[in-house]
Amino acid sequence: MPSVSFHTLGCKLNFTETSTIGRTFQTRGYDIVPFGSCSDVVVINTCTVTEEANRKCRQTVRRAIRKNPNAYVIVTGCYAQLKPLELSAIDGVDLVLGSNDKFELFTLASTFEKSESTQVHVSCIDGTLEFKSSHSGDSRTRTFLKVQDGCDYSCSFCTIPKARGRSRSTTVSDILEQVHLLSASGTREVVLSGVNIGLFGQDKGESLLELVVALENFTEIPRFRISSIEPNLVTDELIEFIASAVRFVPHFHMPLQSGDDAILGLMRRRYRRDRYADRVARIKRLMPEACIGTDVIVGFPGETDEHFRNTVAFLEDLPVSYLHAFTYSERPGTLAAEELSTAGGIVPKEIRSHRNRVLRGLSEKKRAGFYREQIGTTRTVVWESTRDDTISGFTDNYVRVERSSHTAVPGQVESVVLESLTDRGTVEVRDALQLPVIAII
Ligand code: SF4
Repeated sequence: MPSVSFHTLGCKLNFTETSTIGRTFQTRGYDIVPFGSCSDVVVINTCTVTEEANRKCRQTVRRAIRKNPNAYVIVTGCYAQLKPLELSAIDGVDLVLGSNDKFELFTLASTFEKSESTQVHVSCIDGTLEFKSSHSGDSRTRTFLKVQDGCDYSCSFCTIPKARGRSRSTTVSDILEQVHLLSASGTREVVLSGVNIGLFGQDKGESLLELVVALENFTEIPRFRISSIEPNLVTDELIEFIASAVRFVPHFHMPLQSGDDAILGLMRRRYRRDRYADRVARIKRLMPEACIGTDVIVGFPGETDEHFRNTVAFLEDLPVSYLHAFTYSERPGTLAAEELSTAGGIVPKEIRSHRNRVLRGLSEKKRAGFYREQIGTTRTVVWESTRDDTISGFTDNYVRVERSSHTAVPGQVESVVLESLTDRGTVEVRDALQLPVIAII
């Protein structure tokens, strides 16, 4: 039986697409083996979100070729779409496929025979309206389902619209069908994923709210989560519906990027801090138990100490539950790199690193504070994995919990009481029906 191995870099969307390509290989009789072991074909799905991501992709490709010199090596994904020649120049790469071309893999190269030259198929993605469905691997716990692709925004630091094209989605009815199949295969939680998911349906005359309402009313999956959504697209109606929903969990991830209005303007973000704070307040008013996560970029061109202090102070006051800090890196071809950086606004690398450390520290404080607030509450958990005799999973409001003595199995949904913080940054729980042990003296 021929074999194939996969490696994915970057976002959940990339993971869903790799899984879908993997299933195509399986239907053609391929055995999927772990990446790094000997295989006939190697597929690497790349990311280009930062210069560091590009470097990691090249490093991964070179390592894969060194370990598996006879394998037919295919490199695809966002980096391949934007810089195909940087990848085809690596000795041993056989095929480079752009963002949409990866779904035509078997049409473009069916024999997978190595040759002297590298084939490059990267079609222009600018005007593409085609949507390719995908979801992550068969799992009885959490499945990432791609419902939207591309982005119509033009944030000044971002190359993703160039790599993935304009916003496009599948239809509500198509997603319902896919979710019914996932439900039949035992999936307990579906994470709706996209590049800019708040734009879902706009190309089809539908909306994210319509999708959420349909999934709540016409499916049996116990849990739906929305992966990440731009704050300006979190409408009052969406918040209100999720607050009253049974299947949609109280968890929002809304990228902030900066807590300073001048920097948000330079970033060309479509909201300012007041709007962001208003969204957070509205969510918390209706769902005090909600987990709210965010992303922040530090070291953006022109970000002074004062701008950064504004971001820190803004986040300290906001009831967000965790944050992901990203260090800005210049992306050639973006407004931020071409114009803002040359206008004298470059932040030295060591200052960027320092700011990143400050925000990571703040995130730990925020997460611990949020977890502490949840102690004593009863939540549902979908158990995901076991290690030694401990099982772990996430509650609906995204608290990572674990239980050391248990009879649960991954995929099981349980009601639990959150008891205490552990030194592993999780929360120990007990069965919601089990009474606490009271010492009688
Ligand atoms: S919303 Fe902005 S950061 Fe997000 S993908 Fe679109 S352009 Fe990039």
